Amino acid sequence: MLAIRGVKTFYGNIMALKGVDVDVHRGEIVTLIGSNGAGKSTLMMTIFGQPRAREGQILYEGRDITRMPTHEIAHLKIAQSPEGRRIFPRMTVFENLQMGASIDNFEHFDGDLERVFTLFPRLKERIGQRGGTLSGGEQQMLAIGRALMSRPRLLMLDEPSLGLAPLIVKQIFDAIRELNRTEGLTVFLVEQNAFHALKLAHRGYVLVNGAVTMSGAGRELLERPEVRAAYLEGG
Ligand code: ATP
Repeated sequence: MLAIRGVKTFYGNIMALKGVDVDVHRGEIVTLIGSNGAGKSTLMMTIFGQPRAREGQILYEGRDITRMPTHEIAHLKIAQSPEGRRIFPRMTVFENLQMGASIDNFEHFDGDLERVFTLFPRLKERIGQRGGTLSGGEQQMLAIGRALMSRPRLLMLDEPSLGLAPLIVKQIFDAIRELNRTEGLTVFLVEQNAFHALKLAHRGYVLVNGAVTMSGAGRELLERPEVRAAYLEGG
């Protein structure tokens, strides 16, 4: 579904991605783990063309999107919940979710809203509350809910567990698993929280300094001593 081939991305003269290869197949949950500054967010942003890959190719459902304008990529049913959960702080929960729905999906609006509320009942309880006054975990749920309202075929999540309490992280990861299990939604997840993210994933990749150093089944990666030493210390 998504094939990233030899992608190099630069910030000025600095190479942040040094030839990355990643595949996400339909129906999979794929996790990319890496520490601060490894290039995880850069990879997510490169898929959307901001910044653009200087070398390599990004294929989505067989189409080369490497040089496609960002607004066209957004129409390809790829939804992103970016790091820092950019929700609209002055808008209510309902209005934020409305913003996620696209015009072509309006006839499905009520059903899609119900689906988000089933996944995150907390949002239903707070439907009229402004986004900016929600807790961090609730904002993350809202960001994912908003992404789902666009009926994506591929859901990309950048560090959904960032700064959240373990119980909330579990709720969010359970929701992702549920979406994948019941609807077959394809998920590409970028995380520092290696333990939960690899447990959830069918397959995983480890990104170090802009290059993939390891890949394999999620649970198999979790067992590898190098992964345990580097990413699960104390976890
Ligand atoms: P984190 O988990 O801390 O968000 P990350 O793996 O997402 O880290 P990136 O944000 O992709 O890492 O950053 C990769 C490298 O590129 C880092 O060295 C970072 O300093 C650099 N970088 C990121 N954005 C820019 C930018 N706009 N200009 C210059 N350098 C940048």
